[in-house]
Amino acid sequence: MTSAPLDRRTFLGTAALGSAAIAAGSSARADLADRLDAYQFEVNRPEGEWREMLSNLEFNVLREGGTEPARSHPYWEASEPGVYSCKACDLPLYDSEWKVILPMGWVFFYHSRPTAILTDIDRSGPMTGGTGPAIEAACRRCGSHHGHIVGINNEVIHCINGAGLTFTPSAT
Ligand SMILES: [Zn+2]
Repeated sequence: MTSAPLDRRTFLGTAALGSAAIAAGSSARADLADRLDAYQFEVNRPEGEWREMLSNLEFNVLREGGTEPARSHPYWEASEPGVYSCKACDLPLYDSEWKVILPMGWVFFYHSRPTAILTDIDRSGPMTGGTGPAIEAACRRCGSHHGHIVGINNEVIHCINGAGLTFTPSAT
């Protein structure tokens, strides 16, 4: 778990540490924890503050890289116009016009708002049954984990946890 200070400041540079989380059999990913500690995000809070402001599920998804059960969050089949923001820092991430409802039961978008989402390699591979790495989608402002960018039916789509989002309906 050691790397040069310069490397630790590089967002993508922490990805190689992911195997440690698998070895520990933990839902909390070591590579994500290392990234959140090492990278200077615009919004940064001590773990205790995140735990106070987030539910256990929200904390697991956003700060530990967890995945909510399929079809467990009502956003998966929502179609109202509005904006989906990061529950941890309120940064607007996704517009409803780019949302698509798919039977897998997470919250899918064709793309995010510009400069809202950072990507990383998640080597714990939750979207691939643990058989390979996946592209992770994280909040640009606070580094929270939101889901993965996956290929479905020849489309590249953001597969996002509803628990990490706050929906604000469009003004009518
Ligand atoms: Zn955020």
